[in-house]
Amino acid sequence: MTPMAGKNNTISAPKGVPDYVPPQSRTFVAVRDTLVAAADRAGYSPIELPVFEDTALFTRGVGESSDVVSKEMYTFTDRGDRSITLRPEGTAGVMRAVIEHGLDRGALPVKLVYEGPFFRSEAPQAGRYRQFHQVGIEAIGSDDPALDAEVIAVGHEAYRAIGLTGYRLELTSLGDQNDRPAYREKLQAFLAALPLDDATRERARINPLRVLDDKRPAVQAMLADAPLMLDNLSAESSEHFTEVLAILDRLDVPYVINPRMVRGLDYYTRTTFEFVHPKLGAQSGLGGGGRYDGLMAELGGQPLSGIGFGLGVDRTVLAAAAEGLAVGPTARCEVYGVPMGQAASRELAVIAGRLRGAGIRVDRSYGGRGLKVALKSADSSGARVALVLGERDLEQGTVMVKDLLSGDQRPVALAEVESAVAAILAG
Ligand code: AMP
Repeated sequence: MTPMAGKNNTISAPKGVPDYVPPQSRTFVAVRDTLVAAADRAGYSPIELPVFEDTALFTRGVGESSDVVSKEMYTFTDRGDRSITLRPEGTAGVMRAVIEHGLDRGALPVKLVYEGPFFRSEAPQAGRYRQFHQVGIEAIGSDDPALDAEVIAVGHEAYRAIGLTGYRLELTSLGDQNDRPAYREKLQAFLAALPLDDATRERARINPLRVLDDKRPAVQAMLADAPLMLDNLSAESSEHFTEVLAILDRLDVPYVINPRMVRGLDYYTRTTFEFVHPKLGAQSGLGGGGRYDGLMAELGGQPLSGIGFGLGVDRTVLAAAAEGLAVGPTARCEVYGVPMGQAASRELAVIAGRLRGAGIRVDRSYGGRGLKVALKSADSSGARVALVLGERDLEQGTVMVKDLLSGDQRPVALAEVESAVAAILAG
């Protein structure tokens, strides 16, 4: 492999892969953790899984006709001649682990939350990367519509906790194994009568629903009267969907029904949803998910139903910026120490250790820098308090404690630094 060579023989990140460096990396972590926290509040336990899996997991689990599997996977042969794929999505891996560890043999539903990087070899553009991050949840082993509503509400609450308001929740029902085949035939019959090109005909044969998602205006015009799944639901699927909507109404979760929604992964059934942010441009999908009734059996497990979502962390960061939101602490530390001389440096190490032990975020200057330069660093660190420790302070057993917001400063006895700092931080 040839590394990507930049100027002066340096190496750049691979094409389409974002780096998050300070200070934006703080926002990234705060966004990710806020999304995870919403799932934690609803009783989802963390699951940590490998980023690469046996390729068959995705071809079987996600579906060979999906773009993700047919065009976008990072697949390679490892040194033991096994076909390995960098995970393009999270649900298949979670199901594999649930089956492998027998988690489905305990109390149901099994509720899990994961976060981490995913990989798709897509054409890079704003908001579309080849390595991206998702926070996802899965609730497996119940088809109670209250669970569908919970999963959707967790997503909504997660975005609300970030402060986002400008997104839209779209949902529909894709039917189940009882009503899908009849609808599929109806749609195929409709599509067969249209003057479609050969490639689209082939798609109509493998996965007719996907044709509904064709972006070409000429094709869209032909599809105006296409039969919709939502109008062809069985009484059971229809009741299920109505109950999901009723709970969302009671929870005051706003939504719009989009009967033409098509998701990129083949396994979805019944309730299917997407969070869309109009300020994100072409890549407006913030997150999405749905119910998958056949997936677990397809992967060799019990025929349990599940529902989950994947929220894109990168796009949530972009959406927060588009809404002008500051997420998480922007300051690197709360207290910044400036020692003048070696004895002061040693004493400050002790003070910093004590404050950190009390849960206060402390940074300091190193290497005997001048007072002016060190105070500049204190300012740019974002700290609220500066601790200036000179030779004379040391002799007197005090530290100069400076409130960088008000500019007030006073000498404080070494033993009382912690309470003096805490008082300013609380103010
Ligand atoms: P999906 O797994 O395709 O349902 O995607 C769920 C969410 O993950 C999307 O709504 C996006 O926010 C995010 N996502 C998917 N693919 C990408 C990508 N290539 N780059 C950035 N985010 C992505």
